[in-house]
Amino acid sequence: MTRPTLYKKFFFLFILFMGFNSLYSQKKFTVVLDAGHGGSDIGANRYYSDIGSVQEKNVTLAIVLKLGRMLEKNKDYKVIYTRKIDEYPSLTYRTDLANRNKADLFISVHVNSSPSTSSTTQGTETFVQGPNQNKTNLEVAKAENDVIFLDEKDKENFASYNPSSPESLIALKIQQSKYLEASLTIGGMVEDNFVKKDKRMSRGVKQANLHVLRMNAMPSVLIETGFVNNADDAHYISTEEGQQAIAESIYNAIVSYKKLVDRNVKEPEPEKPVEQPLKNDFRILLMSTPAKYTENDPALKGLKYILTIKENGAYKYYYGTTNYASIRDTNLKTAKDAGFRNAIAISFVPNQSLATGYYTLEIYSGKDKLESKSLILKSLPDIERNKENGVFYYTNGKYKTLEDAVKAQKELENKGITNTVIEKRIK
Ligand SMILES: [Zn+2]
Repeated sequence: MTRPTLYKKFFFLFILFMGFNSLYSQKKFTVVLDAGHGGSDIGANRYYSDIGSVQEKNVTLAIVLKLGRMLEKNKDYKVIYTRKIDEYPSLTYRTDLANRNKADLFISVHVNSSPSTSSTTQGTETFVQGPNQNKTNLEVAKAENDVIFLDEKDKENFASYNPSSPESLIALKIQQSKYLEASLTIGGMVEDNFVKKDKRMSRGVKQANLHVLRMNAMPSVLIETGFVNNADDAHYISTEEGQQAIAESIYNAIVSYKKLVDRNVKEPEPEKPVEQPLKNDFRILLMSTPAKYTENDPALKGLKYILTIKENGAYKYYYGTTNYASIRDTNLKTAKDAGFRNAIAISFVPNQSLATGYYTLEIYSGKDKLESKSLILKSLPDIERNKENGVFYYTNGKYKTLEDAVKAQKELENKGITNTVIEKRIK
């Protein structure tokens, strides 16, 4: 099972909890290589008549040393080994070593086995520490955890941990969720390489409760490189070529993972400069026509925030007001999308007094005179009445700036006098 499409998602979550100290830092990428088992802890093993005893502790050390040599040739990496010889470092020591060195990655290499003497079950699988374990994963966890009481310190550290206690589980979830996404990412890369480069059978990336990973404060994986009780796998992991191929696959995955970390950490989203307001206001001129429309007229195609300014007998309909270029452009696009193909942005100098003439408000126009008891005539006793081409026009007020006229218009609206139009009169 591989999951390349999930890398990005996992990684995004991962960078959220990366410390800011690590941003832009030039420090080497520290990888802890952990050869599983060792010394008196042989790990999984089987005897084959042609190649003799295949022991997990030897296979894991051979792979780790090959992997370490590759990483050490690359100056970007610092390699720390939990062991370089046939000895048994306690699980506590392995974890402490990684945490103390503030490692960026913890890679534990192992060899799988199933309970039967020989098995057709074969292939690789990579474990990350996590609470979503199923029964089969628990078997692996049990096998890898069994060595735990070889050491007194381990007993102290891990004995209090009871996987069936809810408190332990919650603590575990909190501890591990921090590195789970990144661990899944590197795990997926390792399995990907096994499949694509080495043509191995992958059993996927899985979550299990593994003590050697549990206390690690960094993305960590435990790689099962093959089944010791499967003849094909056992022969493969025992050969120089097989071990080299496995080491190269893990190496490739580490390099890809580091690239992903570098790309995401060193190239943060460029911060958008804060947009500065423009000197002038911009309104979108929708149309200029002798026809007078009220705000909900279909001719306005549903656009709101319309300002109508009458000039030389024509009504000019403007949409939106802004002094930000981005909003102006958006407003223009909205107007065009609504069907005003010839809409253009018009610049207005804010609070500009007219050099000649003034603004007034056209309160009403119609073929019939207003009745003396109408709201308009009662509210505005000074209203001016003109008649042109058989239409009566009622106007009121004189304002030097457009802003003043807009303000007066709002005040009238509050009094219940709506659908007034600002008229610009140049004399
Ligand atoms: Zn193991």
